[in-house]
This record gives sequence, C-alpha cells and structure tokens, in this order.
Amino acid sequence: MIEDLLAANQAWSEAKQKKDPDFFLRLAAQQSPEYLWIGCSDSRVPANDIVGRDPGEMFVHRNVANLCTPSDMNFLSVVQYAVEVLKVRRILVVGHYGCGGVLASLGEPKNGLVDHWLGPVRALAVEYKDELDAIADAHARHDRLVELNVLRQADLLNANPIIVNARKGGHAIGIHGWVYSLKNGLVTDLHAPVPPGATDPGPSPRKVAMDATGAAAPRPQPVLTTPIATPILAKTKGLFGRST
Ligand SMILES: [Zn+2]
Repeated sequence: MIEDLLAANQAWSEAKQKKDPDFFLRLAAQQSPEYLWIGCSDSRVPANDIVGRDPGEMFVHRNVANLCTPSDMNFLSVVQYAVEVLKVRRILVVGHYGCGGVLASLGEPKNGLVDHWLGPVRALAVEYKDELDAIADAHARHDRLVELNVLRQADLLNANPIIVNARKGGHAIGIHGWVYSLKNGLVTDLHAPVPPGATDPGPSPRKVAMDATGAAAPRPQPVLTTPIATPILAKTKGLFGRST
C-alpha cells in the first residue's frame, strides 16, 4: 500500500528531527558530500546504509551493473557535477556479488533493452573468456566477472577526461573499486590500480577535525529560519487538470 510508504516517511522524518532538530534545515541549506558512490540499481544494495552515512554525506549514481560508460550522459553529468561543483574527494565504484546484470551478461540476451545496456559487460566476459572458463564453479565464475567489471569501471573512471583534467588542476581524487556481499553485508576493497601521478586525497577533513577535538566536527549553520509550512505542489494543477 502506498499509504504505508507515506506513513513510514512521516515516522522517519519525526525520528530524525527528534534526534537532531536542525537535521533537515542543515541539509536544505547545502550539501557538501566527500564521496560519489557509483553502484548497481539492485534494491538490496542501499548506498548510504552500507557505509553508515547520513543523507547529505554521499552523492549517489546507480545503474544496472554499476557501469561508467563514457557515452552515458547521465553518468557523465553526475561525475562532472560531483567533481567540479561538489568537489568530492573519493569515488567509490561498488559492484555486488550475485549481480543479476552481470549474470545476464554471461547468458543469452533475452531481457530486452537491458541487454544493450550490458554490452560492455558482455564484451568484458569475452575479453576474459580464458580466465572465466577456467573457473569450474558457476557462482565463482559469476563472482569473478563481478570483480573484473568493477575494476574495468574504475579504469574507465581513471581515464575519463573529467577526472584526468581535475587531477591536472590539482584536485586529488581517490577512485576505489569495491564489491559488496549480499550474504554478510560486508564490502571487499579490490584495490583498483592507481594511475601514475594520481595522488591520494588523504584523510577526511571532517575526521581530522573530530580527532583533533575529540568531538563531532562543526557543522555548517542552517540558513533557513522558517520552515516551509505549505506544500506548494498541493495548490498547483497537474498536467491532467487535477490537483497534484
Ligand atoms: Zn547488480
């Protein structure tokens, strides 16, 4: 029931404000995430939850099989905004074992449009055919292609002109290849190769501040003083002549 979702939303909002009265005012005022997460659309891989981050701490892009396809305008727009405007310091490419998109790439194309989207993974499976064929267990073969796919996407990111030019301009960006396990909720770092000349951005400034003071880092003050009380959309006409 859709009403259940709205009721859950109300409860979530109330719980957040009870714990931290300025939470939403602060978020509405600005976002300054340190991380860009590029993950799979799979409903079992919730980006913020996995690494214990609140809203506002991570910019997120998701698509089937966590691809960084250089011709994908959605992906490129997200990366450019994250790097050039938000100035993120680290990009996490996160695949997951048991990925249905990767598994589909190992079989006959029979899923419609998504088979076109998964073309790069299918090509990767062909490129690494010998290594994959040598793995007798089907699950292990699938898992290995998940890892190869993450490493390939990290390589593509490292070669992406947005990243290359940002690094040339002195913006240190760490690019990390991770795989998430649906079975135990843990992430494995694949230690994606770092291109020559790329420097690590170092520890998070927020963590440094917390370590120095022994307390939470200072948070930006909210600039909104009056919450918007009236839902604006409720008073507008929808496209089909009814109230939205
Ligand atoms: Zn997946």
